[in-house]
Amino acid sequence: IPTEAPEKKETEKVLPGGKKIINGIVYDADGKPCRTCNDMSALFALGGKKKRSAALPPALPKDCPPDVAQLGRSSWTLLHSITATYPENPAPALQNETSAFLRTFGKLYPCWVCAEDFQEWMKVNTPRVSSRSEFGQWMCEAHNAVNVKLGKKEFDCGKWEERWRTGWKD
Ligand code: FAD
Repeated sequence: IPTEAPEKKETEKVLPGGKKIINGIVYDADGKPCRTCNDMSALFALGGKKKRSAALPPALPKDCPPDVAQLGRSSWTLLHSITATYPENPAPALQNETSAFLRTFGKLYPCWVCAEDFQEWMKVNTPRVSSRSEFGQWMCEAHNAVNVKLGKKEFDCGKWEERWRTGWKD
């Protein structure tokens, strides 16, 4: 896996703080590829190694630091599970704390490119935390916004509770 930005730059986007996106790879301000912002297969390909096939077992041991996809799956599991255990009628104080948590989460999310987009999305899609069903629906919409951005299929938000709380109906 390369540790520095490549010499040949087909596309380059320079961002505040010295961060860059070159040929689709996200680099931190220190010029090194951001581990939690990139897919490991893209980093392998960058290093001249063959892109890993989805059919093959992961090339890295399970106890390696996460890439963007591993981090994302774990994070969505946490976020949707929080909505699944959220009260049906939360007290006003909990609603405020939940909104504050989401703002902080949006700032601290370890993939900074993802975090910036998530913060922007939340500016126009203010968290809806007045009940479990509202919060679960909002989180599903948040996840779908990322799915769309990544060219993935949207999830049917009418099924968020089956996926994350009750289990699938027979
Ligand atoms: P995931 O998208 O991680 O989904 C996990 C499971 O959740 C799915 O198998 C499905 O059962 C269920 N699911 C899918 N959609 C929904 C939904 N709408 N509602 C409820 N359940 C659903 N990655 C990037 O490359 N670029 C980004 O900018 C980026 N931004 C992110 C922002 C946030 C806040 C988070 C938490 C993650 C972000 N990710 C980003 C990671 C990305 O969303 C995926 O987690 C990652 O690509 C792995 O995808 P996956 O196909 O394994 O399933």
